[in-house]
Amino acid sequence: MVDPRLTSLHARASIVNTAARIPCTQAEGPGSRFALWVQGCPLRCPGCCNPHMLEDRAAESVTVAALLAEIAEQANRIEGVTFLGGEPFFQAGALAELARGVQAMGQSVMVFSGHTLTRLRGADNADYDALLVHTDLLVDGPYLERLRVTDRRWIGSSNQRTHFLSERYRHLEQGPTSWDTGANTVELRLVGGTLTVNGFPEPGVLRLSGRRDVP
Ligand code: SF4
Repeated sequence: MVDPRLTSLHARASIVNTAARIPCTQAEGPGSRFALWVQGCPLRCPGCCNPHMLEDRAAESVTVAALLAEIAEQANRIEGVTFLGGEPFFQAGALAELARGVQAMGQSVMVFSGHTLTRLRGADNADYDALLVHTDLLVDGPYLERLRVTDRRWIGSSNQRTHFLSERYRHLEQGPTSWDTGANTVELRLVGGTLTVNGFPEPGVLRLSGRRDVP
């Protein structure tokens, strides 16, 4: 039996309840990527760097078709799309559909989830399974403040693991050095008088940013 609390009240087929998106960033996974933050996360990890994205409320609803069109516009300068949050598996049905379309374009899909891969695979949830099928690279596990690290480029705590779910990034796993080493990567943007931060900033930097809604 699927636990209904694991699905957002605002989840609807073919519509993603989005919190923010950036058309091209180098701070949310390998290469240049379109990044999509979703609204709503039931986990509530102390120290979460996106507390305004946790409430399960209607934020900006965008159709999968519209998101695919936005991503297609970036196709010449990105190599993939990253889903973050919030909790992507809270809206797994719509994101599975989006991920399928992204891969059909030849782009890769990376997902950050607070759930472990073991839990996702054991949840008996067809939407979870569909999103995993269309995920190339998964970072799993909740953010644990006591295990915070600053030497994994895109990852916040040492318990979080990377899973190469397809061959797309297998070369990174087998490279001479660990693919996610290096100081945390952060990007700052000043857009319309608002400073936004993405990547994995220090708490002091985070306070500079009110929101991460980036045009
Ligand atoms: S799983 Fe991620 S988004 Fe959710 S509370 Fe934990 S750190 Fe924040």
